[in-house]
Amino acid sequence: MRFDYVIVGAGSAGCVLAARLSEDPRAQVLLLEAGPEDRHPWLHIPLGYGKTFRDPNVSWQFQTEPEDSTGGRSLTIPRGKVLGGSSSINGLGFTRGQADDYDTWAQMGNRGWSFSEVLPYFKRMERFEGGADEFRGGEGPMSVSYARDRWELCEVFIKAAERHGIPYNADPNGARHEGINYFQMNTRNGRRHSTSVAYLNPVRSRPNLTVETHAEARRLLFEGKRCVGLAYEIQGQPREVRAGEVILCGGSIGSPQLLELSGVGQGGRLKDLGIEVVHDLKGVGENLHDHYLARSVWRVTQKVSFNERMSGIRLGIEAMKYALFRRGLLAICAAQLCAFLRSRPELDLPDLELTFTPWSMQQGKIGVFEDQPGMSIVAFQLRPESRGSIHIRSTDPKQAPAIRPNYLATETDRRVLIDGLRLARRIVASPELDPYRGEQIWPAPHLNTDDELLAHARETGASVGHLCGTCKMGPATDANAVVGPDLKVHGIEGLRVADGSVLPTQISGHTNAPIIMIGEKASDLVRAAA
Ligand SMILES: Cc1cc2nc3c(=O)[nH]c(=O)nc-3n(C[C@H](O)[C@H](O)[C@H](O)COP(=O)(O)OP(=O)(O)OC[C@H]3O[C@@H](n4cnc5c(N)ncnc54)[C@H](O)[C@@H]3O)c2cc1C
Repeated sequence: MRFDYVIVGAGSAGCVLAARLSEDPRAQVLLLEAGPEDRHPWLHIPLGYGKTFRDPNVSWQFQTEPEDSTGGRSLTIPRGKVLGGSSSINGLGFTRGQADDYDTWAQMGNRGWSFSEVLPYFKRMERFEGGADEFRGGEGPMSVSYARDRWELCEVFIKAAERHGIPYNADPNGARHEGINYFQMNTRNGRRHSTSVAYLNPVRSRPNLTVETHAEARRLLFEGKRCVGLAYEIQGQPREVRAGEVILCGGSIGSPQLLELSGVGQGGRLKDLGIEVVHDLKGVGENLHDHYLARSVWRVTQKVSFNERMSGIRLGIEAMKYALFRRGLLAICAAQLCAFLRSRPELDLPDLELTFTPWSMQQGKIGVFEDQPGMSIVAFQLRPESRGSIHIRSTDPKQAPAIRPNYLATETDRRVLIDGLRLARRIVASPELDPYRGEQIWPAPHLNTDDELLAHARETGASVGHLCGTCKMGPATDANAVVGPDLKVHGIEGLRVADGSVLPTQISGHTNAPIIMIGEKASDLVRAAA
């Protein structure tokens, strides 16, 4: 078998590349995905997120190494393992971050990645319900919708936030980032719009596009320093394919893992594992960064939270509402409100995100709602400085790599998170919430000092699911860079990486939209070089 382009991983970026590169009927494109087709109904109903991200049939259930930074806990890291990748199981919130995030990438030596240069790709990607303007796209494949419902507790929370200097922002993906509003969502007519649905489904019948599911890439094939194809397994059967170019879209865990298994990575580390070194590249698996959240939970004194609607007849009513109108609880994303704000007034730009949900989970039990009314606020620092790593442990591709996020390793990361926990308390103490506010459950009200709040964050916090950076984009002069601004792997021909692993630094929001943008821009880079 020989293809012009072999794309590994049908996730947020991979589906975009497969659709865009196969627009040229002369280009033969193969898309390999380790997981299955995205047929399960819960993958398409927004609330299904609560089930699918924990389902090993469609979600890799990686584990972090126990670290002091998380109170010695090992955290579960879900990633999509299905067509659409993590865009099929994620929380559906659609955010782009700040213009400054991309200008920083350009300033690090990544020509072509400043905000004004990536904005056309953000616009090309989306069909925004609010229509096109200077910042938004109206004709793209990916639907971006406003939340369909307004909720009493959310409306009150917005007013309380305004009292604390957090302005209402009609479009946080538009001219201004700062402020509070309901999340915009990747949904169309109340159904999830993953990249599989938005990009791949409309082009599956193209004769020059082959999509193989249950197909796991095992090793890249090299002739000298040129990648010429790869070995993969489909339903346990070994196969090989030759390629004009291989594009890795396996995500921040899958892409560095495959590079290392194939002999591209830190020479000493690979030799110790008995892997023949094809190219010594120090940055592979380094520069891991993620958003780390700390949660605050309160009881609510009236029956206006989602908790009491999540069972029995009230859940039945919600199911009917969804079936008839595509509204109600089954149409919600993972959090309802999103606030981007500055933790200190002297800052130029937001450095903190708070999300608000008019519901609460049982402590330590993800996906299990409390049986009394509750509300929660999640805080996380937008641009973490802490850096961790992902490295293989052995030559066995089935063995998950060691993931060491090294959360909260810097003073700024710790301080902003503690500020977030304090600010959440101040907002909830506002008079607007007097009729609703019950006791605080998490962190317990007697926990007040920096050390106590930090201990709470370490012992109960979690990943937001935004692991990025493990094949860092940067010029060849950057010793830790794995790919250049053209996304080609440094020192190797015929091989690019285009997914969340190339982010040099975190963006100030959630990562799905930026990674779809990377897929769009990568397709132009590949076509320009053809
Ligand atoms: C639970 C969860 C909630 C999230 N919520 C949000 C949110 O609300 N908003 C937001 O913007 N972002 C969210 N994110 C983050 C966002 O979805 C991801 O950052 C983004 O989808 C990652 O895109 P990617 O293309 O890098 O990788 P992925 O989309 O993860 O795609 C990688 C694909 O490659 C496949 N693969 C890996 N290795 C191989 C191999 N060896 N062979 C073949 N295939 C392989 C995988 O199975 C997967 O399908 C969330 C993520 C998770 C996990």
